Amino acid sequence: MNEENNKRYKVMIIDDNDTIRMLAQEFLSQEGFIVSEAVNGLQALEIIDSIGPDIILLDVEMPELNGFETCIRLRTSVQYRSTPILMLTGLDDSQSIDRAFTVGATEFATKPLNWTLLRHRLRYMLRASETINQLGESQHSLVAAQRIAQMGNWRLDVTTGLMEYSEHLYTLLGIQVDQSPSTFDTLLSSVHSEDKDSVQLWIDEARKSPQESNIDHRIINGDSSVLNVTQQLEPEYDSNGEVIFLHGIVQDVTERRKAEDKIFHLAYYDSLTDLPNRELFKSELDRVLANAIENAGVVAVLFIDLDDFKKVNDTFGHCVGDQLLQKVSRRLENSVRRIDAPHCKRYDTQDEVIARMGGDEYTILLSSINNAKEAEQVASRILQNLSKPYKIDSNDVFTSPSVGIALYPDSGDTADELLKNADMAMYCAKRGGKNLYMTHDREMSEEVQRRHKLDSQLRGAIDRGELHLHYQPQQNLSNGLMDGMEVLLRWNNVELGNVPPFVFIPIAEESGLIVAIGEWVMRTACYEAKQWLNDGFIFSRVAVNISVLQFLRPDFPDLVASILEESGLEPNSLELEITESLLAVDTEHAVQTLRKLKAIGVQLSIDDFGTGYSSLSQLKNYPIDRLKIDKSFIDGIAFNVEDAAIVNAIIAMAKSMKLKVLAEGVETVEQLGYLKENHCDEVQGFFLSHPLPKDDMRHFLITHSISTDNSKDQRKSA
Ligand code: C2E
Ligand code: MG
Ligand code: MG
Repeated sequence: MNEENNKRYKVMIIDDNDTIRMLAQEFLSQEGFIVSEAVNGLQALEIIDSIGPDIILLDVEMPELNGFETCIRLRTSVQYRSTPILMLTGLDDSQSIDRAFTVGATEFATKPLNWTLLRHRLRYMLRASETINQLGESQHSLVAAQRIAQMGNWRLDVTTGLMEYSEHLYTLLGIQVDQSPSTFDTLLSSVHSEDKDSVQLWIDEARKSPQESNIDHRIINGDSSVLNVTQQLEPEYDSNGEVIFLHGIVQDVTERRKAEDKIFHLAYYDSLTDLPNRELFKSELDRVLANAIENAGVVAVLFIDLDDFKKVNDTFGHCVGDQLLQKVSRRLENSVRRIDAPHCKRYDTQDEVIARMGGDEYTILLSSINNAKEAEQVASRILQNLSKPYKIDSNDVFTSPSVGIALYPDSGDTADELLKNADMAMYCAKRGGKNLYMTHDREMSEEVQRRHKLDSQLRGAIDRGELHLHYQPQQNLSNGLMDGMEVLLRWNNVELGNVPPFVFIPIAEESGLIVAIGEWVMRTACYEAKQWLNDGFIFSRVAVNISVLQFLRPDFPDLVASILEESGLEPNSLELEITESLLAVDTEHAVQTLRKLKAIGVQLSIDDFGTGYSSLSQLKNYPIDRLKIDKSFIDGIAFNVEDAAIVNAIIAMAKSMKLKVLAEGVETVEQLGYLKENHCDEVQGFFLSHPLPKDDMRHFLITHSISTDNSKDQRKSA
């Protein structure tokens, strides 16, 4: 029996009739079955577990426990739930036959039994049972697999519109198996309201022109939890090539989506502010630009940098700095978006993107604007909102933004270009005084390029010997002697020609180059002055302009001392001109540095006095020797009462503090007369002399200074 695998099946005959049991033994053993017997139901139930039959022949009429009862009991046990049972009934006993099926028999055979036929019957029953078992098993595995994969499937009969759902699909849809008809409408009723239309459209399309396709959407799963699912469908054709079924699978990808979102968030969002980062910003900008290029749209990129953010970090610590960056982010959002959009996980395409580039730099992309004016309105809102004080850990923190704007198409058509130009405009806003916005234009680019050119040329200026000094004489009004001179730097470049100091000094200050240049100026001036003194000329001082950047360096006093030492110039012969603004910025440090310098023995003067913020009374704290009244006040003294009054007040106050006063930019005899009359100590200006190159200055000294015998010789030879 069972030719395929030679398995010997166990058959159990339960019958009170000895003859039947004996015949069963004989016929069925011959057939290869292993036969066991029981004389009634009770005995059968007692021994069946030790036998484990593959198939059972069960008589109906038996003492103790009849066949029907036995069958019922067998079927209640999991082990025999699907074991094939052949019920042996009387001929034409249709009632018994009916009953046999009701109690769970697989088949029936009527007595008297035809043993030859019966053995075939048994064989087919076994085969059928095996197939059913296998089907059951694979169905079981399928259900398990679908459950594990969080996947359900359906089949849609395109002619009837009827659908079949798999068991797990019910679970995914959050509906009971017998509660709702398995139709497409039932499936649709579980779809998230915002996705219903697209799912309906998808299935309609598939019915019209069937082909493999898929769709991602959300499902409201019974208890209102939202699932992300992906559906895939595939048509099935009949032999004529007509579509008969659509097969679909629905897979729950909620967890996967969550993980993807998390990875996406980590990769494309800034962890401190939860704003999109540079990468996301650039890819959004690319997308928006492509769209704008196609539709002749306008796009604005705003580049924002906080003013003096470093100061916040230095003063309050990084923790407060971080919180400030977070608060700034929220204020940016409020400045840009009229309605507060809830924070989305995956970046929904939006008209505005606010990103943190890093540090205290942010960028904003505006794509629903029509012109520069609208972008400027946003920028102006940002200035307003960000400049209000921030309360952080009981500190009142202040900052302000500088904003640069670049627009497509005016300022570029690629993300890089727009970012570069917005950055440039921001940089111009910083230079323009901070806390303001500027929109990029062509002149701005040219200006920046020009500055860039100047900067790069200036870097090699010392080495190429392009720098030299001019000297402008200063006259003592009480005795008429030329006893001082101001050192003024000149730059002559092969390509750029003579570049005036008001152009290149700010550039050198911006790049920090002024530190090296300033050192060169001081050293050169000290050596040249020392040479003149050695040559016998008499003057009391040479005045060198000092940039804030030089002054703020901790080693500045040491540098001054060492230059004086190496050049051999007396400290008292060197004057350092510092600007008034320096005193207003960093009082404590300034006082200390000034004291150190004073201790070295140099003279100190305040340049351009009257244009800065310091008050005269403040000056008494500083060890200053001289005030240089700014040219702008001198210009009007001979005819403008106010200027004259200011100058008089400065002179009077300075005298009371025992400071010398020098008037700068004296151009006329009237100005000179007025200053003399009002007891100004010293003057400097074109009326006396323009700044002179070294050799001309030597000549000037020969003709104007009181001199030693040495210099008289020089004068003779001149
Ligand atoms: P400053 O220190 O106030 O120098 C005086 C400026 O006024 C000089 O301009 C000088 O040529 C000009 N001036 C003098 N008398 C008159 C006059 O009667 N009429 C008019 N219209 N101008 C007069 P300059 O040489 O162009 O220098 C400009 C500024 O550049 C200086 O102003 C100073 O702040 C800066 N500077 C020059 N050399 C140096 C330097 O070596 N180091 C630093 N840090 N700054 C320097
Ligand atoms: Mg000066
Ligand atoms: Mg000056």
